[in-house]
Amino acid sequence: MKKIALIGSTGSIGRQVLNCVDRHPDKFKIVSLSAGSNAKLLAEQIEKYKPEIATLTNPENASLIKSINSTTLYFGENSMEHAITTDCDIVVVSVVGFCGLKCVLKSIEMDKTVALANKEALVAGGKLVTDLLKKHPKAKLLPVDSEHSAIWQSLGLDKDRPFKKLILTASGGAFRDKTYEELKSVTASDALKHPNWLMGDKITVDCATMMNKGLEVMEAMWLFNCPLEKIEVIIHPESIIHSMVEYDDSAVVCQLAYPSMEIPIQLALSYPDRLKTDVESYDFLSKNLTFRKVDLDKYPCFKLALESAKLGDNYPCALSAANEVAVHLFLKGLIPYLSIYDYVLYALEKTVRREVTLENLLETDALARSFVLEKYKGDLND
Ligand code: NDP
Ligand code: MG
Repeated sequence: MKKIALIGSTGSIGRQVLNCVDRHPDKFKIVSLSAGSNAKLLAEQIEKYKPEIATLTNPENASLIKSINSTTLYFGENSMEHAITTDCDIVVVSVVGFCGLKCVLKSIEMDKTVALANKEALVAGGKLVTDLLKKHPKAKLLPVDSEHSAIWQSLGLDKDRPFKKLILTASGGAFRDKTYEELKSVTASDALKHPNWLMGDKITVDCATMMNKGLEVMEAMWLFNCPLEKIEVIIHPESIIHSMVEYDDSAVVCQLAYPSMEIPIQLALSYPDRLKTDVESYDFLSKNLTFRKVDLDKYPCFKLALESAKLGDNYPCALSAANEVAVHLFLKGLIPYLSIYDYVLYALEKTVRREVTLENLLETDALARSFVLEKYKGDLND
């Protein structure tokens, strides 16, 4: 029986982790749950899974959570770190955004297996995470993101196997068939209609801009110790091939299945075993698989992410933080879709190079967020 600490239990990934637990109650047990603001859903989850610990970052609706003798509750800003208990085997980090980084670092320090969905942590703090993993050889970092899970599977679940290059597939997001002109008037609700996946709001917008693929390129660089030049990105509108590895002899190995996070989430929990899922077997006669080149003019955020990967140090952290705020403003209907790029670019240009330490990343993150808000206020007054 594997004991799971679930950080971000109320989100899209978090709820699917709980589906895996429901599917295999003899294999997995929830020992802690952490949520951001959704006290109502957290209360239901506490009732059902009776964890030892539950945490809620934003205590506004904490009164909805009835105290249960078997569950210790923590509320407030840094409460989610309490969810990483000494007796858990796996920490699933499925919160959205930079706030996941501290949980990843703490889990590794405690020699835990981390099932990582939160890509922003690795984009900003990949160096800290990989350095810490070297000091804690018992700790493991397993990918949940579907592309990285596909690469891991294509490497035979051996992250250290040598390869020639990694090929990440991208759906192209909600606007892949729109012209640049048409993008000027798209709304948040248009951006949230992803053609193949049902996910949280932030990542769905990131898919539309392809910032998500840029973040995933950096995630792959850290997870598979891979330089930028050895990563190719290709649009694959059907989202059946989830990513590929090309070996030295030019043989390409890929992982494919109908688009569902069930497979990558459950594999990170059950590794090294594979357990049954509810995903249908793939029917090879059901559709043609197609591929397209990424149009960098249509996806400037993707280009910007690659540029920040080349700049290195704290620039990916600034890019990701600025993007979090800009996407938030777009989702609230406060800025147009195409401005997401302008805001992230503005913050990147104002960022000063710093070496990667936790302190410098916290500062970079806070400054990048403030640069976006500064531009937003300035634009309002113009
Ligand atoms: P959601 O927005 O659906 O869920 C986010 C989760 O994080 C919620 O549980 C939310 O709590 C919690 N949260 C947010 N801020 C805080 C905070 N400050 N403190 C504690 N908890 C917080 O996102 P997704 O599940 O879609 O994505 C989660 C991560 O996984 C992201 O990094 C995303 O890029 C990555 N990912 C997601 C995929 C998907 O299919 N959804 C696929 C691959 C990667 P609450 O709702 O209670 O406020
Ligand atoms: Mg992905």
